Amino acid sequence: MYCKKCGRLVDDNATFCPDCGCATNPNSTNNNQKNGMAIAGFVCSFFIPLLGWIFGGIGLSRSFSRNGKGKGLSIAALIISTIMFAVNIKLMASL
Ligand SMILES: [Zn+2]
Repeated sequence: MYCKKCGRLVDDNATFCPDCGCATNPNSTNNNQKNGMAIAGFVCSFFIPLLGWIFGGIGLSRSFSRNGKGKGLSIAALIISTIMFAVNIKLMASL
């Protein structure tokens, strides 16, 4: 592929142009951060469904601005939170 800025031929796996330093792969620049909220929501959903919902919801909304990064994990967090919440309600009802 070619650099968008200077037009130099760049290796397909290169993230930056060796000539001008311009980013060649748009996915590797701003959207490469981990969606921490999605991960936090996924982890919390097993133990604290309410936090799983909150983090999962934030993670889901953030995933839209990050090329869908963390979207699957956020949805999983919301689903697991719902299941765990239902399980907790059942457990409490049986006490
Ligand atoms: Zn360049």
